[in-house]
Amino acid sequence: MVDIHCHILPGIDDGAKNVEDSLTMAREAEKQGIHTIIATPHLNHQYNNRKDIIVNRVVELNQAIREAGIEVTILPGQEPRIYGELLDDLDKDQIQTLNDSQYIFIEFPSNHVPRYSEKLLFDLQLRGLTPIIVHPERNAEIMERPEVLYRLVEKGALTQVTASSMCGYFGKKIKSFSEQLIEANLTHFIASDAHNVGSRGFKMDEAFTTIDSQFGIDYVYLFKENAELLIEGKNVIKEMPMEIKKKKRFLFF
Ligand code: FE
Repeated sequence: MVDIHCHILPGIDDGAKNVEDSLTMAREAEKQGIHTIIATPHLNHQYNNRKDIIVNRVVELNQAIREAGIEVTILPGQEPRIYGELLDDLDKDQIQTLNDSQYIFIEFPSNHVPRYSEKLLFDLQLRGLTPIIVHPERNAEIMERPEVLYRLVEKGALTQVTASSMCGYFGKKIKSFSEQLIEANLTHFIASDAHNVGSRGFKMDEAFTTIDSQFGIDYVYLFKENAELLIEGKNVIKEMPMEIKKKKRFLFF
């Protein structure tokens, strides 16, 4: 299994604090059947992780993982919070796509979707990149107005739901919204977004067990396959997105 979203690089964001933490995470990943992890450190106002730092840390961590006898490979990635100068920084080679593929993570602020998002996601696609919106199920505006996400997906963006969200670790509301995103073909990847092995752990095996029981094994294969296709830079499987119908609406005449 491939995990495309993980804060496993040591000491550069709110994930692993040091190499020991990283190795503990890698061991846990191996236990859950994960053989490849894309390291996706934050790039935001708090953490300034540019491509060069990430690439170096990935080489070092792979070395440490090999020495520890753990069968997990780390690939380079990044989790940029959306910002106006993203395209300029892309030109400056400071943005790390997922394993140097055409796929690039985009994180929205947790409470809203900035107005320029649609234009920026479009501009990324004009450059041959495919934006993947991370954890839309935890965005307050998207939860309130899922049509915002529908519109972005309809225009070519992909999305990634977090494994812990599917398992209910972020609450019932986020779990049920994650299910709605799957039902409406509004998500294409399940990833851990693991920061540690405790409160923000991998939960990948648990998420896929949940998905299997609620949606069937085909969905498990689809999500796992998409993560494999992504790291190879191939086109992923997309079903026609649908609008999320508001639940519990009563009509009065
Ligand atoms: Fe993350």
